[in-house]
Amino acid sequence: MESSVMPGCERELWFWCITHDKTDDPLVQRLFKGLQAGRRASLAESITLVETSHPKKKLQARQLLTQVLQQAKKIGSIHGAKALSLRLGISGPPGAGKSTFIENFGKFLTKQGHKVAVLAVDPSSVTTGGSLLGDKTRMPELSCDMNAYIRPSPSRGHLGGVTRSTNEAIVLCEAAGFNVIIVETIGVGQSEISVSDMVDLFALLIPPGGGDELQGLKRGIMEMSDLIVVNKSDGDLVPAARRMQYEYVSALKYIRPKNKNWSTPVKRISSVTGEGIPELWNLMQKHRKIMEDCGEFVNRRKTQQQAWLWSHLKDSLVSAFITAPGMKEKISMMEIKVRDGILSPGDAADILLQHHIDELKLKSQMH
Ligand code: GDP
Repeated sequence: MESSVMPGCERELWFWCITHDKTDDPLVQRLFKGLQAGRRASLAESITLVETSHPKKKLQARQLLTQVLQQAKKIGSIHGAKALSLRLGISGPPGAGKSTFIENFGKFLTKQGHKVAVLAVDPSSVTTGGSLLGDKTRMPELSCDMNAYIRPSPSRGHLGGVTRSTNEAIVLCEAAGFNVIIVETIGVGQSEISVSDMVDLFALLIPPGGGDELQGLKRGIMEMSDLIVVNKSDGDLVPAARRMQYEYVSALKYIRPKNKNWSTPVKRISSVTGEGIPELWNLMQKHRKIMEDCGEFVNRRKTQQQAWLWSHLKDSLVSAFITAPGMKEKISMMEIKVRDGILSPGDAADILLQHHIDELKLKSQMH
């Protein structure tokens, strides 16, 4: 494209792109080559880089992601949707059997020649600093499997930041040759909304006879689930698992399906005996095929990309606003006025924003 025929802002963007993707930064080049060679150490280092908040490293992370995305686009334009990995979201309450399931399901997949990456989004680690998910000791065999990669959840920042870096980690895992990416999260409400925004198939894993805590969660999570899996359907627990399956099938009748070509199935499995796991995988592949055929597979990824653009934009705007010179004091002043009922929150926000816009105008006039 000729830059001379582009309008100003488009030209600026275009220049930004060509100067940022052709980086010769040694770290970025080393990691990019390592990812292409499928090195797990390079993958771990790359994910750490995208999780950073250090400004220089952030730029390097962006350059690496740009290169990775361009490479993926090249491959995608040759091989189409078939070249894309499968991104699976697995959510469920603590004790549902997520790690037991992922351990056995992951091993089942690697035996078939798949390369499996497990990433965790753990909202509890944000507030407590501890991590319930992605802990390698929870999946001892899978973590030793050369065709698997397990990444514990990042333990810093707010949930938005954590999930965003997970979204980028997915892209990096794919660049390193992993073709099934499992994103694990605990069913507490907020986290699976973000996770369902980054996967191709979102599955809810539940134990039989889940008590009252499931009731509150049920509807919201069911609405975003493509698949419901009743785990622990073995031994004495089979009748309870059947009841649970029946309950969920009935409840789903009152929920509008996410896609007109797919109604959410409820399957019983046992992660301990492995019963039902091959059938579950077949079902996941059937879902993919149907989504591919109706164009929804690629479309969903595009919509997700767009949603993440807005998420980045909102965060960057708020951060630029808060860190602008003199803004911190102004915001504190307004907060006091709002708390004391002198100003309404809406008015205070308008005043702050107008002040920021005026400052920006003044600055550009001075230059
Ligand atoms: P998580 O907290 O969701 O990761 O759950 P875990 O995988 O740690 O499992 C919690 C408990 O349930 C453990 O004692 C597991 O051994 C048990 N468990 C997990 N899957 C099954 C299953 O399929 N059948 C039975 N009977 N127990 C299971």
